Amino acid sequence: MSHVFARNSRRSPPRAVGGEGCYLIDESGKRYLDGSGGAAVSCLGHGDAEVIAAVQDQLSTLAFAHTGFFTSEPAEALADLLVSKAPEGIDKVYLVSGGSEAMEAALKLARQYWVEKGEPQRGRVIARRQSYHGNTLGALSTGGNAWRRRQFAPLLLDVSHIDPCYEYRHRADGESAEAYGARAAQKLEDELLRVGPETVMAFVAEPVVGATSGAVPPAPGYFRRIREICDRYGILLILDEVMCGMGRTGTLFACEQEGIAPDICAVAKGLGAGYQPIGAMLCSAEIHQAIADGSGFFQHGHTYMGHPTAAACGLAVLRAILGRDLLPRVVRQGETLDAALRDRFGQHPHVGDIRGRGLFRGLEIVADRDDKVPFDPSRGTAARIKTAAFEAGLICYPMSGTIDGRQGDHVLLAPPFIISDEQIDELVEKLAQAVEAAV
Ligand code: PLP
Repeated sequence: MSHVFARNSRRSPPRAVGGEGCYLIDESGKRYLDGSGGAAVSCLGHGDAEVIAAVQDQLSTLAFAHTGFFTSEPAEALADLLVSKAPEGIDKVYLVSGGSEAMEAALKLARQYWVEKGEPQRGRVIARRQSYHGNTLGALSTGGNAWRRRQFAPLLLDVSHIDPCYEYRHRADGESAEAYGARAAQKLEDELLRVGPETVMAFVAEPVVGATSGAVPPAPGYFRRIREICDRYGILLILDEVMCGMGRTGTLFACEQEGIAPDICAVAKGLGAGYQPIGAMLCSAEIHQAIADGSGFFQHGHTYMGHPTAAACGLAVLRAILGRDLLPRVVRQGETLDAALRDRFGQHPHVGDIRGRGLFRGLEIVADRDDKVPFDPSRGTAARIKTAAFEAGLICYPMSGTIDGRQGDHVLLAPPFIISDEQIDELVEKLAQAVEAAV
C-alpha cells in the first residue's frame, strides 16, 4: 500500500505511466481518451514537444529565483504576452501556482485596494450559488457549492450567494433568454441594496460555470448588466476564468464573448496545460496604481510565485495556443462535439440539457427529462458514469452539485484542443456506453 495520501481512501486508481496526444496510458498499457483534460487542464494534450523543450531549457538555465530578490525573463515575457491579449484595462499579472491561489490573491487584492482607497468598510463579497472558486478557505468561502462547504462552515467568510445565471433551471416558460439574463443580473443589485452597497468590495463569478454545474454559459446580456451594476455601485468585478479561460471556450478569455472586461481576473489550468503548476491573477492598471500610490506593497505572496520554470511553461503554452491557431480550432471542434452530443443524447430520456461553448461542454443528467427532476442522490449517478466511462477507456468529469437545494448530476467535457473528429466520435460513443450503464 502506497504512502500517498489519496483524496479517496476507498479507491486505488491505476498508475498512469505515459501520455500521447489525447490519450493517457496506465501501467497495464490501457489507453484512456482524455475527454476532460483531467479537470480542463490538458489543453494541448500530452507529450507536447515544444512545451517540454521550453520547460527543459528553463530548468537548465534558471529553475528558480525567489521573487523577494529577483524577477525573471520568462515571468516578464509571460506577463507581457498575457496583458497584450487580455481584456481592455488589464495591465498587471501576478503569477502563482494554481487556481485557488489565483482566486485567493484576487480576493486579497480587492480587499487591500479598498483599504488603500480609504474605504475599509468594504469587506463583503457577493458571489453565486452553484459556483466553485477553489479549495483554500477564501476561495472556498466564495464558492457556492453547498456540499464542498458544509463541514468547513465554521472556518468560512461570510459571503453573500445569489442565484446563478442558469437558463435550463431558472428561465421561465415564455421568457426570452435576454429577459431572463436581465432578471438574473438583477439579483446582484437586489443583494447590494439588501446588504448596503458601501459594505461590498467585489462580485465574483465564472463567466462559463465549470465544475459545479457543467459548462453553463451566461444568458445573453447577463454580464453586460452585471458590469453596469458593479460600475453603478463602484464594486469590483472579479471573473474566475480558472477553468473556462485560456482558450477553452474559443476565445482566450471567456469574457471576451460577453463584451465586458473585469477589474480582476484569475486564470490557471489551461495556462500550464498540465506541464507545470501555474495560475495568474490579472488586474487593471487602476487597481495596481492604488497600491503603488498607497502602501506600495501587496501584502500577499507565496514562495513559488513567479516561478521561472512554471512561467516558461505558461509562455510556451500561450504561444502554442496563439501561434498554432488553436482558438478557431476550438470553435470548430466545439461545434463538432456539440453536434455529436446532440445527435447521440438529444432525445435521451435522462439527458435534460446539452450546453457549453467551444471545447467546454456539459450534459445535465436527470431522472425525468420532462420535469427535470434529478436522480436520487443516493444512487451516485455522476460517480457511476465516471466509473463506467473509465472502464470503457474514457476520462470525463461527472460531478454531483446542489441544484436549487437538491443534489443533481452533470458530466463536464473539456478535451484537448487538438482532438480530432474521429476522437470526438470515440468520446461520444464511450460516453453513451457509460451513461447507458449508469442510469
Ligand atoms: N476556480 C475554478 C472556476 C475552478 O474550476 C477551479 C478548479 O477546478 C479553481 C478555481 C481552483 O483551482 P485549483 O484546483 O488549481 O486550485
